[in-house]
Amino acid sequence: MRRKLAAGNWKMNGKLASLEMLDSLSQSFGDAGCDIAICPPAHLILPAVERCASGAVRIGAQDCHTAEKGAFTGDISAVMLREAGADYVIVGHSERRAAYTETDADVMHKAAAAQTANLIPIVCLGESLAEREAGQALPVIRSQLKHSVPAGSTGATLVVAYEPIWAIGTGKIPTMAQIAEVHAALRQDLKTAFGAAGQDITLLYGGSVKAGNAADIFAISDVDGALVGGASLTAEDFSPIVAALSAA
Ligand code: PEP
Repeated sequence: MRRKLAAGNWKMNGKLASLEMLDSLSQSFGDAGCDIAICPPAHLILPAVERCASGAVRIGAQDCHTAEKGAFTGDISAVMLREAGADYVIVGHSERRAAYTETDADVMHKAAAAQTANLIPIVCLGESLAEREAGQALPVIRSQLKHSVPAGSTGATLVVAYEPIWAIGTGKIPTMAQIAEVHAALRQDLKTAFGAAGQDITLLYGGSVKAGNAADIFAISDVDGALVGGASLTAEDFSPIVAALSAA
């Protein structure tokens, strides 16, 4: 059975006081009919986990190292994130692929490290505007999927997020037909790679999801939720997205 997920990526935003929004989410969505996760910066993971101990909201991280421990100044391992109480970790976000030249192989190793530590990796994929305009979106995304996702993944151990780079933080989104085309291709490839388990892997769309477009996006076949950046920072913006997913 495939799970629906509304996940928020706070990026390098948020202070201790920002965690108040978790209380609102917990109060509004005791039984949302979908999973809810917030991925704050690393210093907020432990207080966020403590704050959400009795609610429906789960906490995730935004990156992890491939190693369990060692001389990697500034990094954090999946084991450490799990110890802090995280349930998810985003890997391969386009901002990290671009700023830290992370390759598909790096992303795959991070996702595997997350799975070993009992974290669910949210593996991000997506084409640039130049690739979309050159008609290369599907081959680019399918190649990223093939090389970024660990063997043996299942619906319980993997989430995939399609995030066109040109839609992140821009207010632009693909047409519904373009999202549908990508998600159908990803579903097909997941089934080819993982057999029946591929049918159970949650597939998110990400890129300028807002209250105003969420319901239309969630109505698309094989869109099982969203990875949300800017609109996940406040309960006011995020709650209608969770509500739309819950109703989808
Ligand atoms: C993201 O950064 O993953 C994202 C989808 O951002 P936004 O929702 O702000 O476009």
